[in-house]
Amino acid sequence: SLQYEPGAIVSDACASYSQIEDLNESLRPYVHDITQNTDFFSYYRLNLYNKKCPFWSDENGICGNRACAVNTLDNEEDIPLVWRAEELGKLEGPKAHHPGKRLQEERKARPLQGELGEDVGESCVVEYDDECDERDYCVPEDESATAKGDYVSLVDNPERFTGYTGEGAHQVWEAIYRENCFSKPQLNAKPLSAPPSSPFGGFTGAQAQAAMDLRHVMKEQQEKQGIKKAIAQGSAPAHPISDLEFEDECLEKRVFYRVISGMHASISTHLCWEWLNQTTGEWQPNLSCYENRLHNHPERISNLYFNYALVLRAVGKLKQHVQSYSFCSSDPIQDRETKRRVLALAAAIPPGDQIFDESVMFRDPDALTLKEDFRNRFRNVSRIMDCVGCDKCRLWGKLQTAGYGTALKVLFEFNETDASRDPPLRRTELVALVNTLDRISHSISAIQSFRAMIEQREAAR
Ligand code: FAD
Repeated sequence: SLQYEPGAIVSDACASYSQIEDLNESLRPYVHDITQNTDFFSYYRLNLYNKKCPFWSDENGICGNRACAVNTLDNEEDIPLVWRAEELGKLEGPKAHHPGKRLQEERKARPLQGELGEDVGESCVVEYDDECDERDYCVPEDESATAKGDYVSLVDNPERFTGYTGEGAHQVWEAIYRENCFSKPQLNAKPLSAPPSSPFGGFTGAQAQAAMDLRHVMKEQQEKQGIKKAIAQGSAPAHPISDLEFEDECLEKRVFYRVISGMHASISTHLCWEWLNQTTGEWQPNLSCYENRLHNHPERISNLYFNYALVLRAVGKLKQHVQSYSFCSSDPIQDRETKRRVLALAAAIPPGDQIFDESVMFRDPDALTLKEDFRNRFRNVSRIMDCVGCDKCRLWGKLQTAGYGTALKVLFEFNETDASRDPPLRRTELVALVNTLDRISHSISAIQSFRAMIEQREAAR
């Protein structure tokens, strides 16, 4: 069901809204504790600054780059500097730098058994995790051979309101939803420079044509199938390819759309929950932000609950994998404790048939082609994140696409009972997966609180 009804089963999942809420209430302390209180899960390594937006030119005034973010400051003249979009979007806290290949090789040559204690089997080497596996659903974080990432503290940089908005942000969301159009080949990721007159801002030539075709196809589909299109609230422009209900789409394509829309809903929830009141300077929940972006769009909330079921199932499926996993920070005692906490979380997750059953997907004769298409499109979504023009938003956007990509990889490429042919799981993937679960888990709690506020308000009338 796409309407919030506590007892209704969340469509495409195996649990009802209230079952997911109950589950979240019991698991939330584990997830919160792991992501906030362990070094392993609270630092994420990514290449935040050195990747160019591969879809449209950085010089293009309407794309989502830093320059565009600066443009938004024009409208914020009255706000003290520290609250302006660019300031809010900046990263905070010290950055730990990557140890570099030489140090890693030294560590490989000099295993750390003595430092690790007897029960740690592998040498604890910081992973040089940029190798691509064909079964990945995401571009690995450290793909570029020259520019390596930094470790960023996720605890010091919470996902919340940043003020990033306008055409830059809309163009990114639009490009993400465009990947959802399975009826046409996906757009190639190539640096482009666009003439200002291009109707797609950054897309030129063949890509603009492809994008135009996609819109045309989507428009036709909407008209033919009577697909409901959400009308944008307030000043937000109506989007042609987001907020669709694919009534007779196949399950796999629907899942793709729901993952993206659910991620968008989760980001919106966080920015409404930790909203900066620009008059008082206080961070506080903004109920009308929630009502406009989420409450009045129950299908978005449904997609968020769906994502919870999907990601939780993926974490639960890793039970075996985690048993033999080496958690490596600089402190072996903490590493043992981290493992204990992750195992406790995995053990508390119910089996797939109670939350999300991935075995019903990719079963048709054309499943292999569809799966490859699905995977490539998801990889493109992860590339689009390099076009996000606010550092903090890019950090969380990249982390969450990597988290969903990892969830999809675990669901569709891992064997729960025989791990021998499972693809490798990088540290960055595991960190992204568990932090993404934490994000959705926090969103569900926030939505419950928002709903309670609405009930209180109604009761007081
Ligand atoms: P947007 O949220 O920009 O949505 C654009 C259009 O998409 C809407 O008009 C609607 O038609 C459609 N839509 C909206 N939600 C959904 C949904 N769930 N499913 C389907 N369709 C939908 N801002 C912050 O303050 N903090 C952040 O951390 C942050 N992170 C971001 C990360 C990314 C990757 C991106 C692209 C943007 C981020 N932003 C962040 C900006 C934020 O998401 C919005 O773009 C901005 O607040 C403007 O919101 P809006 O109301 O114009 O609509």
